[in-house]
Amino acid sequence: MNKNRSKAAVIGAGIGGLAAAIRLARLGLQVDVFEQAAYPGGKIREFRQAGFRFDMGPSLFTLPGLADELLDDDLKFDYRKLEVITQYCFEDGTQLTAFADVKRFADEVAQKTGVPASRVLNYLKQAEQIYQLTAPVFIFNSFHRLGKLLTWANLKRLLQFFRLKAFSTLHQINAKAFSDERVVQLFDRYATYNGSNPYKTPGTLTVISHLEHQLGAYFPKRGMYQIVDSLVEQAMRLGVQFHFSTPVTQLLVRNGQLKGIRLNGMERNFEVVVSDVDIHQFYSKLLPDKRRLDKIKRMEPSSSALIFYWGMKKRFPKLDLHNIFFSKNYKEEFACLFEKKTMTNDPTVYVFISSKEVKTDAPAGMENWFVMVNAPANVGQDWEKMKTEVRRTILKKLNRLLGERLEEQILFEDALDPVKIEDLTGSFQGAMYGSSSNSPFAAFNRHANFRHDLPGLYFVGGSVHPGGGIPLCLSSAKIVAEMVEEKIKR
Ligand SMILES: Cc1cc2nc3c(=O)[nH]c(=O)nc-3n(C[C@H](O)[C@H](O)[C@H](O)COP(=O)(O)OP(=O)(O)OC[C@H]3O[C@@H](n4cnc5c(N)ncnc54)[C@H](O)[C@@H]3O)c2cc1C
Repeated sequence: MNKNRSKAAVIGAGIGGLAAAIRLARLGLQVDVFEQAAYPGGKIREFRQAGFRFDMGPSLFTLPGLADELLDDDLKFDYRKLEVITQYCFEDGTQLTAFADVKRFADEVAQKTGVPASRVLNYLKQAEQIYQLTAPVFIFNSFHRLGKLLTWANLKRLLQFFRLKAFSTLHQINAKAFSDERVVQLFDRYATYNGSNPYKTPGTLTVISHLEHQLGAYFPKRGMYQIVDSLVEQAMRLGVQFHFSTPVTQLLVRNGQLKGIRLNGMERNFEVVVSDVDIHQFYSKLLPDKRRLDKIKRMEPSSSALIFYWGMKKRFPKLDLHNIFFSKNYKEEFACLFEKKTMTNDPTVYVFISSKEVKTDAPAGMENWFVMVNAPANVGQDWEKMKTEVRRTILKKLNRLLGERLEEQILFEDALDPVKIEDLTGSFQGAMYGSSSNSPFAAFNRHANFRHDLPGLYFVGGSVHPGGGIPLCLSSAKIVAEMVEEKIKR
């Protein structure tokens, strides 16, 4: 392979594709990014209307160092560590503030629920230990390559497998740790951070509470889309060529060898191709492969979402950047999402108001509300009907808990549903995070970041190893770049 001008194509300008493009360009490859949409970012999107700006997808930013390390110093963007991570409101009227300061948070839990602060601190300590054991093996490593997996350090970690709580569910772990249902619910919610079901997902996912409570929750100074803007600027500085509104229609393989891609009816040769396309879509359209597709279909997709974007006429001082209004019956909510594939009549409601941090995101005296409930994967439900019902339910719930008549405050409105998520990003059934982690083996079943039988072909993004969410997608790009570097050096 020509070391200096090897050509790489990245298919898809989601966060995984952008990070891969930057890393490959830094390795000296000539990189072209092909994106079917007219804009970069994939699920990380924004829109502006009636004086409001909305981040349409992700709202929570953790492990910011993974973005930092992609950027030149002058392109690094400012972000702030949140002092209050989330405001929680329970159906019994309890309001609980998740302060970033762990001790203060534990005291708040003790004061509001009677659960001793020491129990919360112990729980988070254990979550930290699990993170230290699992992250190097499962998040920042391609464990599909035996040489990378079977290092002495990893083997020592895996010998402590019994400590990973992989064979109890997250809910079982939480119910054992805390006697109060509200605290159990608070820690169960972390399953939703990768679109999973706390009553099925392994207890190992306590690591997510460690990420948020101990490593911190952050917010970019200009909102979530600033992450995309910065990565695109960096990529362009490194000479990456972007081709928007340019869907790739086929991966070209001849005599078992990767040749390149087809787009606009033309063939283009590339030595390296990195796909950021949802893996289901990849094997159904770009490189049809029934056997692999069947395997992917056996994995349960993550949850999707129904989101309402409301431009609100006034400010709500009691609310923060992230606000959760819990359902009364969490178990029923997840049974609806994953088994019945419908919506409960009492969903947990998440209200994210970026204008609390970014004042220009709403006109003076107003707020931009992103109101989200988890939704099942799209299997052909009547979403228009569900949206109408869910909107009514949300308004009733929030009006009751906030003592407001919110419908009178909505100046502007738009919505996103699983069908739109699927249409806009190619995400199978509108899944937010690729496949769910609803089994102890989910991590092992995700598609690898490469194919042994097709050297030069790599995979990044939320539908492949290590999974969905911004930090994990960034990690997938890092894993791929390491492999490409090894290929170049060979
Ligand atoms: C509503 C919502 C809320 C979320 N909240 C959070 C959060 O708070 N924190 C967090 O960390 N994560 C969150 N996530 C998850 C996170 O957004 C995703 O895991 C991540 O952005 C996925 O990135 P990706 O690299 O997999 O690419 P995607 O964003 O899925 O993008 C893939 C890109 O490939 C393009 N593409 C597809 N097919 C082709 C083709 N044939 N040719 C060319 N281009 C193609 C698509 O147009 C798209 O731009 C959320 C997701 C959603 C939907």
